[in-house]
Amino acid sequence: MSETMRAVEVPEAGADFEVVEREVPTPGPEAVRIAVEACGVCHSDEMTKEGVYPRIEFPRTPGHEVVGRIDAVGADVTEWAEGDRVGVGWHGGHCFTCEACRRGDFINCEHADVTGIDFDGGYAEYTVAPREALAAVPEELDATEAAPLLCAGITTFNALRNSDARPGNLVAVQGVGGLGHLGIQYAHEAGFEVVALSRGTEKEAYARELGADHYVDTEREDPAEALQALGGAKVVLATAPSSEAISSVVGGLGVDGEVLAVGIPADPVDVHVGQLVGTRGSVSGWASGTARDSQDTLEFSALRDVTPEVETFDLADAGEAYERMLNADVRFRAVLTP
Ligand SMILES: [Zn+2]
Ligand SMILES: [Zn+2]
Repeated sequence: MSETMRAVEVPEAGADFEVVEREVPTPGPEAVRIAVEACGVCHSDEMTKEGVYPRIEFPRTPGHEVVGRIDAVGADVTEWAEGDRVGVGWHGGHCFTCEACRRGDFINCEHADVTGIDFDGGYAEYTVAPREALAAVPEELDATEAAPLLCAGITTFNALRNSDARPGNLVAVQGVGGLGHLGIQYAHEAGFEVVALSRGTEKEAYARELGADHYVDTEREDPAEALQALGGAKVVLATAPSSEAISSVVGGLGVDGEVLAVGIPADPVDVHVGQLVGTRGSVSGWASGTARDSQDTLEFSALRDVTPEVETFDLADAGEAYERMLNADVRFRAVLTP
C-alpha cells in the first residue's frame, strides 16, 4: 500500500476545498481504518466548510456518509475485521460514561464526536473511525447508493420508525428532494398511506413512482386543507429546510398528529398553538441516529430495494459536487468516489 493518499481538506473556515496528498492515517487501539469506496456530499458539510460547528479545528476533511472496507484494525477491536464492509454516518462515536450514555442514549452523548467535524471524514481515499461508529453494509448495496443512506436515509427512516404512525395512517412527506425522495420510499414500504407535498407538478409522476398515494401541489393547493380533506395527517415528515413550509402544514394534522422536522430552516417557525391544542398535535425534530440505526436503515433498504438517486463525482471534483449540492442542482444526492 502506498504511504500517502488523496484527501480533500478545508484548510481554514470558509476556504475552498483543497485536494492534498497526505499520509495514510493509522488507527488507534479503539478504531479502524477504512479504504473508502464512496462518500456522500451533504448539506451539513457546510458546517465543516464554513467552520460554524463549535470546536472544529482546521485543516479538516469533511464527509459523514462514508462507505468502504476495513483495511486495518486497532489492537483492541474484536468485533470488526479486515475486509468487513462498513459505513460511518454523522454520529462519529460516544464516551460511554456520561449521563446520556449511561442510559444508552448514545446519540445525545455529551461528548459525542461528529464525523468530518471532530475527526477527518470520508472525502479521502482512507479514513479512520471509532469502533462504535461503524455500521455493517450489506454486500448487495452499491457503495454509491449506500453512502447517502448513512445520513439522508437514516434520518428519514429513523424519524418515521420512531414516530407514532402505524400501518394505514396518513403520513405526508414534505419536499421531494434528497431526504424526501427517500422518505416517500420508506413511508410506502412501512405501510403508510403516503402523501407527497411539493411545489409544482413536475415531481408528481416521480413521487407516485416512489410510492406516494397522493400528491399535493402546494402552489395550487393549501397543504393544510389538502391534508384535512384526506382525513388529517398522523405525521408530516418535513424535509425541506423552510420555516414557511413547516408552518403551512401544522393545520393539516389529525388527532395526535405530529410535524416531524428533519430539515433545519435558518428562521424560526410560526405555529398557531390553537392548531396544536385542538388536536394534541406537536411540532418536533429528529436527528439521524447511532451506527446501529444506520445498519438497520441499510438492511431495510437492501430488503425492500429502497435506493437513493445519486450523481457521482471524482474526489478531485469535490468543490463542484459541493456547489451543485448547495444550489440544489443535484438529482438528488452527490457522491464522491476516490
Ligand atoms: Zn448529513
Ligand atoms: Zn457520553
